[in-house]
Amino acid sequence: MTLATPLAAALLPAASGIDPASCARGLYIGGEWLWPAGRASIPVIDPATEQLLAEVPDASVEDATAAVEAAAQAAAAWRSTPPRRRSEILRRCFELMMARADDLAQLIALENGKALRDARGEVAYAADFFRWNAEEAVRICGDFMPSPTGANHIIVDYEPIGVCVLITPWNFPAAMATRKIAPALAAGCTVVLKPASETPLTAYALAAVCAEAGVPPGVVNVLTTSAPGPVTAAMLADARVRKLSFTGSTQVGRVLLAEAAKHVVSCSMELGGNAPLIVFDDADLELAIEGAMLAKMRNGGEACTAANRLYVQSGLYERFAAEITARMAALKVGRGTDPGTECGPMITLAAVRKLERLVDDALSRGARLLCGGARPNLPGFFYPPTVLDGVPADAAMACEEIFGPVVALSRFETEDEAIALANATEYGLAAYVFTRDLARGLRVCRRIETGMVGLNRGLVSDPAAPFGGTKQSGLGREGGTQGVLEFLEAKYIATPL
Ligand code: NAD
Repeated sequence: MTLATPLAAALLPAASGIDPASCARGLYIGGEWLWPAGRASIPVIDPATEQLLAEVPDASVEDATAAVEAAAQAAAAWRSTPPRRRSEILRRCFELMMARADDLAQLIALENGKALRDARGEVAYAADFFRWNAEEAVRICGDFMPSPTGANHIIVDYEPIGVCVLITPWNFPAAMATRKIAPALAAGCTVVLKPASETPLTAYALAAVCAEAGVPPGVVNVLTTSAPGPVTAAMLADARVRKLSFTGSTQVGRVLLAEAAKHVVSCSMELGGNAPLIVFDDADLELAIEGAMLAKMRNGGEACTAANRLYVQSGLYERFAAEITARMAALKVGRGTDPGTECGPMITLAAVRKLERLVDDALSRGARLLCGGARPNLPGFFYPPTVLDGVPADAAMACEEIFGPVVALSRFETEDEAIALANATEYGLAAYVFTRDLARGLRVCRRIETGMVGLNRGLVSDPAAPFGGTKQSGLGREGGTQGVLEFLEAKYIATPL
């Protein structure tokens, strides 16, 4: 391997404060920035302008093996580092991220396209995983009990699971990485992070934060590749890798579960969603609209928890439809880094084409367009905030993740009907319920088949809460006390009384 050389060519000036090229120094392996000889580059495109922001190295299988080697070499020292010390380093990561919050938000807004206000929210959320897990690192307790037979004591220790491979998507480039790195490090594990190629710069910026905070070389390694399949397969085949923590689509999650099964590698899977948002006649309309806008439009709709299907009871339907259409139509669309932007571009042209397909399909099945629907003739991957009225249950957008600024409205009459509609999906990540009747709210929450429900609230994400899905939306939980457990193995010791 050779040390990285600075990249000079064809780089855009930063929108402000941060130079994207400064985050593209190379792969981060064993505490060094490396651009191995002969490796090609992966272009990082600004989705608002379609221009080149930076280039990052395209890691090979050999580089992935070097990253696993670095993580394995660092493992013994890191697992025996006192929990208090690990906690202090994680706390320092939190502090450094918050000190650089503006620069990190700019970087996220540049490479992902999301509005700065969303990017700032993401940085605070992402940093909080370091703070929360700094607090968890010193509270990993074992169990101790007499055996019911009276023959022995049962001692249970929790040990770091081993080297972890972490794979993250582009839609929350900071938060999806810290939601894995922080609990893994708290548990005493070392990691190799493979971020999405669309948004690698934030991942490398986080690696720099970790290094500055005192994370020892090899404990966190980051690599980018255009061949995630073979690179991940090689890492999972390495006997030193004991954990795969993946966030991304259900489609890719299924492939990785099969790959991990070959080597019996423990898996945590945070996969796709198709969240229903149910508004009953007795809901506080203003609260429901605020909640729906947040649940739908955080990140321009590019969120796994995004409200995909909005079911509104007949008595409130017309008023809700008029109000949400007014709110959606008034959103300011623009470059994420421009002040005042409320909805940035989608991540790629393919994402825009998917939205066009879903909207055309719904219209062909009888839905009515209330606003938006026509893509502007501009550079950048923009799609306007759109509202569709009367989306039928057989429309593609009722079954697939929309992942964009499209509100799909449908009417319902009874509670049972709303629950049946909400559960008529293979996904089970998040749901939202709006009603003033607390008993009904809790009853509906219990009957909905998802891992998370927002009751009179359009946001469920919280580092202190267990985030995750049921059904085809995933396995395991991130955040809360459960998040660290994913990176620990229980060791049972039987000893005579
Ligand atoms: P994706 O599945 O296409 O990619 C996710 C990651 O997997 C990327 O890093 C990608 O490079 C990598 N990848 C792709 N093919 C791979 C392969 N064969 N082997 C190994 N890695 C591979 O998803 P995306 O488009 O980046 O992200 C959007 C998806 O992520 C949506 O479905 C969304 O719902 C989901 N998501 C889920 C959560 C959650 O917490 N449940 C959070 C955010 C996003």
